[in-house]
Amino acid sequence: MSLPADKEVSFRESVNLCCDLAMTTLDIPDGMAKYIRNVNNVYQVRFPVKIKGQVETFIGWRAVHSDHKLPAKGGIRFAPNVNQDEVEALAALMSYKCALVDVPFGGSKGGLLIDPKKYERDEMERITRRFAFELIQKDYIGSATNVPAPDMGTGQREMAWIVSTYASHRHGDINQLGCVTGKPVSMGGIQGRVEATGRGVVFGLREFFRHPEDVKKAGLQGNSLEGKKVIIQGLGNVGYYTANILQQEDQAKIIAILEWDGGLYDPNGLDVDDVFQYKVNNKGGVTGYPKAEYFEDSKSLLERECDILIPAAMEAVINRSNASKIQAKLIAEAANGPVTFAAETVLKEKGIVIIPDVYLNAGGVTVSYFEWIKNLSHIRFGRMQRRYEESQSQLIIQAIEASGNKLPRELIEKLSQGASEIDLVRSGLDDTMRKAFQDIRERYWANDKIESYRTAAMALAIEKIATSYATMGIYP
Ligand code: GLU
Repeated sequence: MSLPADKEVSFRESVNLCCDLAMTTLDIPDGMAKYIRNVNNVYQVRFPVKIKGQVETFIGWRAVHSDHKLPAKGGIRFAPNVNQDEVEALAALMSYKCALVDVPFGGSKGGLLIDPKKYERDEMERITRRFAFELIQKDYIGSATNVPAPDMGTGQREMAWIVSTYASHRHGDINQLGCVTGKPVSMGGIQGRVEATGRGVVFGLREFFRHPEDVKKAGLQGNSLEGKKVIIQGLGNVGYYTANILQQEDQAKIIAILEWDGGLYDPNGLDVDDVFQYKVNNKGGVTGYPKAEYFEDSKSLLERECDILIPAAMEAVINRSNASKIQAKLIAEAANGPVTFAAETVLKEKGIVIIPDVYLNAGGVTVSYFEWIKNLSHIRFGRMQRRYEESQSQLIIQAIEASGNKLPRELIEKLSQGASEIDLVRSGLDDTMRKAFQDIRERYWANDKIESYRTAAMALAIEKIATSYATMGIYP
């Protein structure tokens, strides 16, 4: 099959091309392949909201790419350039992502065409509630059908408005809290959801470094992230947690941070928290940050030499126009679709390894899955077993000490702690990310037709979706 790798296509076409490439390594009938790759349904809505005495019309979408498993899952994006093509591409990525990491959901995504910076808080609340109402009316929100979550431009605050709108329209639904994830903990959210995507990226990178063959292929050395030179594009939720954890827990060196209003560079390493605090107090920008070299054209920093380049914001930042200039050894896709299909072909020729989005940013939806389970089971993780585990550990410690062995105090403290919700969430996330990377690399190294982790990941995901359809009797 010849795929147009030499020209830039739309985001959705780019995702479809990745899918087609993976299909060439599988044995799935054409008709089924077509069904899997295309979006099942998409709802477009226009609705009015009175803003400062004037009626403004807003336009939004919710796409369901696959519903081989329900509910369909995926974030809602609020952005000034969102469109149907993008929402469909993102919905497709959700299907592959969930299948790959064994999160039993179909794939969905929503978008609202809006620049949130232009509206007051209470205006945003009215707009969000109205959009949620439109989606609820058409069954595009509900714990059993379709469960939104945060994405670009949305967070806990918007999820709280959505769940509260849902609750007022579906007050008899005992599982109403499970209609959306990424909620504040006080409204049925789960510990560790805010950091989840970033922490998942780090867990994924740690797993990569546990495999010497893979590290060598990327032209890197060592078995850890310590001292690795990292460039981060986007210091939003995903970029911030990724960068911060890499710096604090893994001793990686963050040499550049790229933002919408410019980029910062320091070969000796930036202090991520300090930059983040500056950004918070500076209308979300990094201009004027005094402790690093500033570049007005932040994109030029993507082309700097580094070990790991982490695009953590927008799609298509690495494209045909800059792919040949990228000098990173490894690209870790924390955002959705940051490397275009055309760019990937160029990067492959240069020997640059990519850890793909469908795998690497799956931490968010993985912890969303834990949150949804918590909502449906109506109980916090760890509530039943934590103290029991502690008393069992106490017995073991007593037995060891009774046999004449003295244990150091710190060890006793660690041993005698039962797992809390955050411990369990992180452990479940770590396990998910480790296992999925092992599956991907196994497929990659075992099949000569597969030239990238992305193709391996997509092949694994598509295979699982196809198996679901086959089990339902849709094919062969
Ligand atoms: N928006 C996130 C993503 O793109 C999270 C989706 C979710 O938790 O459902 O993966």
